[in-house]
Amino acid sequence: MASFAEALALTFLPSTCALCRVALPWTGSRAGICANCWDRLPSHRGPLCPVCGSPDVASGEACLACRIDPPPWRAAATLGPYEGTMRDLVLLFKNRGRDELGTPLAALLAQSFRGSGWKQPDAVVSVPMTWRRRLRRGYDQAGVLGRALARELKVPFARPLRRRGRGAQVGRRRADRLRLGAATFGARRPVAGRVLLVDDVITTGATVACCARALAHAGADEIYVLAIARTPQPGRIA
Ligand SMILES: [Zn+2]
Ligand SMILES: [Zn+2]
Repeated sequence: MASFAEALALTFLPSTCALCRVALPWTGSRAGICANCWDRLPSHRGPLCPVCGSPDVASGEACLACRIDPPPWRAAATLGPYEGTMRDLVLLFKNRGRDELGTPLAALLAQSFRGSGWKQPDAVVSVPMTWRRRLRRGYDQAGVLGRALARELKVPFARPLRRRGRGAQVGRRRADRLRLGAATFGARRPVAGRVLLVDDVITTGATVACCARALAHAGADEIYVLAIARTPQPGRIA
């Protein structure tokens, strides 16, 4: 028989895991996701490009794309590929208003940061979203993530970037996204030192590249990029 405390908890907490639907156990679950799902999020297999984080490399050296055209940051990494439970988790966080996922996700990003050997940043900055989308969703998920990560790393969270013009990227062709992404961000105040730029999903990399260029232009010395997931690049040759 369930105890009173248990019954009370079940009244206020989601009773099943939002990803796998098993009944949530007493302990180990975070933000409505069971410990099993947190432990089994897909991660990248094999060596990664140390510059862009692409898994499409044979060794741990910079990929061809990064060697030919180095991106405007020192290094970028993601927790795993944007597929399976990782994709479901990101969608819950981005589109379903589950902002409480920000804290455990930021803890995973902090763990990844600590394992990366990157230098401690002077500030964490997130990719800004359009005010329109923010109104619709009620919160800015990259901002929630950035703020929580800054707390984890004990550094300030800053908002020097602003989005210019139209930011909607969903449904556009890649060429359009690249073109639009290249002109959508600017810095509204000077930046100094080492910056850790945070986003939820890296698709073409155009958005974070544009933000990194704006940060460098505003005075950042070194830029690192960290995101939850990375869209697999079909047909890309390393
Ligand atoms: Zn689960
Ligand atoms: Zn690369």
